[in-house]
Amino acid sequence: MEYRIATISGDGIGPEIVTEAKKVLDRVGTVYGHTFHYEEVLMGGISIDTYGVPLTEEALETARNSDSVLLGAVGGNVGNSRWYDVAPNLRPEAGLLAIRKGLNLFANIRPAYLYDGLADACPLKKEIIGDGFDMVIVRELTGGLYFGERRTEEVNGVMQATDTLVYSENEIRRVAVKAFDIAMKRKKKVTSVDKANVLDSSRLWRKVVAEVAKDYPEVTVENMLVDNCAMQLVMNPGQFDVILTENMFGDILSDEASMITGSIGMLSSASLNEGKFGLYEPSHGSAPDIAGKGIANPIATILSAAMMLRFSFDLDKEADAIENAVRKVLADGYRTVDIMAEGMTKVGTAEMGNLICERI
Ligand code: NAD
Repeated sequence: MEYRIATISGDGIGPEIVTEAKKVLDRVGTVYGHTFHYEEVLMGGISIDTYGVPLTEEALETARNSDSVLLGAVGGNVGNSRWYDVAPNLRPEAGLLAIRKGLNLFANIRPAYLYDGLADACPLKKEIIGDGFDMVIVRELTGGLYFGERRTEEVNGVMQATDTLVYSENEIRRVAVKAFDIAMKRKKKVTSVDKANVLDSSRLWRKVVAEVAKDYPEVTVENMLVDNCAMQLVMNPGQFDVILTENMFGDILSDEASMITGSIGMLSSASLNEGKFGLYEPSHGSAPDIAGKGIANPIATILSAAMMLRFSFDLDKEADAIENAVRKVLADGYRTVDIMAEGMTKVGTAEMGNLICERI
């Protein structure tokens, strides 16, 4: 098959890690008989330097017309006055919000997986880690508290601020469907997280999730209150398969889940629209402190490319091949500087990409 991928290398380590992800995709193409066509799109600081804005309408259109988007990272040191002494909507990161909105990416997917060889980086005790954990957090990305009406005003001489949390049943349904679809490709368990003992929006959330669940009789569903979920993540992370939750709860829980894996250079993510289209990117930023040194860990981006194969192209076998190759490289003792440990072999960005390719 042929696929058209818009690549956004972006800033900092972005170009270095996207190069490695493309290398791995091309290796998959050779082995499994696919062709990936790439079209580079400028976004972030590089777009500001070239066009004066973090994302042009043409760039957005190119992304929209592709089969999916692979993003490195955007942004730089806030000390860079060329990019940051401007209005917030003209800064590099504004490109991210614009592209998510422009492509209607409402479901954010973040896996949190503990690799055998990296258990020492996990801040949890060994008895809690047990056999490890392998979960995916599905977070609603374009509704809820972050997008509701807000205002700050003086009422009877006292300052008062209001934020509004709104969810329609359609917004809940479409993200719930994504979570159940993903669960069907995994261990078939969805934990829907809400605060239904307090919030009306959560009670509607629970009701709609129960309706969607009827279409997935093979999937086990449980409801969990968000405060309990925050505790369970550090007490018994192995119990989770797919966690489904609204925007703000997901924002907090997905960061908590990433922290317990212990290594930001390993964490992939995807943002999906109603169909098969998605934007795939590492969870980390552009790491300006190590940009250009050839030492960045490309694995998060490479695993994001694997997610693209799985979610946008339904190439599960090929996605497995990448994920298994990453596991093998780690088991063989290779590490980039961010995950380096005693007795392991330190490698740079390109070498890590090559080692993964060799194992596909
Ligand atoms: P960061 O994730 O870029 O870096 C945090 C720390 O982790 C740094 O020490 C960095 O060297 C290290 N690190 C990150 N990724 C790594 C990798 N792949 N390999 C090895 N080490 C890695 O976060 P930050 O420093 O807070 O942000 C830097 C810039 O990135 C800012 O401009 C920020 O706005 C931007 N940012 C962009 C995105 C995105 O494009 N989606 C996300 C987060 C931050």
